[in-house]
Amino acid sequence: MATLIDGKKVSSVIREGIKKRVRLYRKMFKGSVPNLTVIIVGNNPASQTYVRNKAKAFAECGMRSSIIAMPEDISQTELINKISELNGDPDVNGILVQLPLPPQIEERDVLYSISPEKDVDCFHPVNVGKLVNGSHDFLPCTPAGIMELLRYYGIDPAGKRCTVVGRSNIVGKPVSLLMLEKNATVTICHSRTVNISEMTGSADILIAAVGRAGFIKADMIKEGAVVIDVGINRGQDGKLTGDVAFAEVAEKASAITPVPGGVGPMTITMLLMNTIRAALIQHRHSGRVQRRKGASYTISG
Ligand code: NDP
Repeated sequence: MATLIDGKKVSSVIREGIKKRVRLYRKMFKGSVPNLTVIIVGNNPASQTYVRNKAKAFAECGMRSSIIAMPEDISQTELINKISELNGDPDVNGILVQLPLPPQIEERDVLYSISPEKDVDCFHPVNVGKLVNGSHDFLPCTPAGIMELLRYYGIDPAGKRCTVVGRSNIVGKPVSLLMLEKNATVTICHSRTVNISEMTGSADILIAAVGRAGFIKADMIKEGAVVIDVGINRGQDGKLTGDVAFAEVAEKASAITPVPGGVGPMTITMLLMNTIRAALIQHRHSGRVQRRKGASYTISG
């Protein structure tokens, strides 16, 4: 039976570290703490739950967050004007626009209007470019969470064959780049891939980000593979399941993430990290924060 990669546990360990960093930050910056603003448009119940969960996590870690709720029929210009205002507000360190947006709004234009320094979701082309060339300040939250899980469980991608199923901008592409950065040999599959089992079956590390319940079956994986299930699929009974047929794959894999409780809890944790990072980047010009060569931003002693 495979080792269970426990995202809840790893997440709570990282959050303890975050609380310490926030206390240090508070000391350094005269009682202020990193601050995220989330914009939510309309009344999508799932989005409202996600936003509430984010606010709860920020409060638990001693950080600030605020929610700006905008009506479903808001125009793109009004939304972008609000983002411009937040871009210029020194009290706001991170800006996140909860997706999806209503159809009258071009998602890309909105996401690109967020200042790269405050783009804690890592969607802005400047941050995507930095991700590609390995000079990133921010990592997209879900892919970063996957890398942290691997690190925590001592799974080194170097020299391994990694297959990623899914090529979205949010998960598939960025996690492929991060695995490449960690020296894995990466194959990316999508809906037009022919003979997908051949690609998944040769993987030492398989990452499923498809959005189809139980898509990855035991006969599609290699004996002893590490299986990371990003999928979140809600069944008719309301239960959440992943993209991997968990019971049968767990018999064959060496390690596997459950759904729920695997990758999911890591996503918000990485958002907390990115917001601290954003705040430090914004303080950089004050000279109170230094950047170690090749390292992410850190609080100087
Ligand atoms: P997208 O729908 O944007 O992308 C799905 C990808 O899967 C696409 O690249 C698509 O290929 C590919 N795909 C679909 N059907 C097949 C198939 N039959 N064979 C091979 N590839 C296929 O989804 P996301 O990347 O945004 O999300 C994926 C899953 O992860 C979802 O369940 C989502 O809810 C979940 N998720 C979980 C998060 C977490 O925090 N745990 C965060 C984000 C997402 P093509 O490009 O050709 O269409």
